[in-house]
Amino acid sequence: MSEFIEVKNIEKVYERKIALSSLSLSIKKGELIALIGPSGAGKTTLLNLLAANLSPDQGEITIDGQLLAEMTDQKKRAKKIGIIRQQFDLIGELPVIHNVLAGKLSEWGIIKSLLSMLFPQDKDDAIRALTRVGLSEKLYERTSALSGGEQQRVALARLLVQSPEIVLADEPVASLDPARAEDILALLVKIASEENQTLIASLHSVEYAKRYFDRLVALQDGQIFFDLPSSSVSDAQIASLYKLKEQE
Ligand code: ADP
Ligand code: MG
Repeated sequence: MSEFIEVKNIEKVYERKIALSSLSLSIKKGELIALIGPSGAGKTTLLNLLAANLSPDQGEITIDGQLLAEMTDQKKRAKKIGIIRQQFDLIGELPVIHNVLAGKLSEWGIIKSLLSMLFPQDKDDAIRALTRVGLSEKLYERTSALSGGEQQRVALARLLVQSPEIVLADEPVASLDPARAEDILALLVKIASEENQTLIASLHSVEYAKRYFDRLVALQDGQIFFDLPSSSVSDAQIASLYKLKEQE
């Protein structure tokens, strides 16, 4: 049986810099995976390839047996793959509810969302999503007036409305203070588990990666350094993952 996500022998080169080489990875539906490794290891590049924001120079990625390169229908792709970033990509001037409903953009078109023609059904969806992230009372607040942690919750609510099968998160909590970061990460993982989503998140913090994720995929210099269940990763492995790079 084929895996849910198959990354086969990927290579990605930027001009003369090899960002990823001979990278293969199989991922099952519903897995919670943290991508770790030193800065420059290729985490963002891998996430961008999985999001189809970049194309590999070699190799291929399949999702549910289908080549990602052939999934060109934006609407269908948005149902498969959702993305959450360190900078939340929210429109600060708009009320929270509009940013949440932007998760429906693939169904809606941007015009409708900006003209704010809200149907009761849409409003209910937004309220439900905002309630799950603990922001039900902020529906009509200007998004830019919210704190960083709250804005990341809005981004999570938007993701709930989009409801993709796969969630890709690139350093989703890097811009938040530690207490807030852990809250948001716990919420991201909780939602992914409840929705049976496959979550792949790059993280700075190995501690959080081990605490919240089932599987750690460690990258170093564009290759997999180890790929192990979180519980079996040793301190020595973590030390050599980060230390080797420093000595270069
Ligand atoms: P990480 O997210 O693990 O820090 P990246 O995927 O951002 O790593 O980068 C992997 C490597 O590719 C690094 O050496 C980086 O400098 C290089 N790289 C990333 N993006 C570009 C780009 N747009 N142009 C040239 N080199 C890049
Ligand atoms: Mg990065």
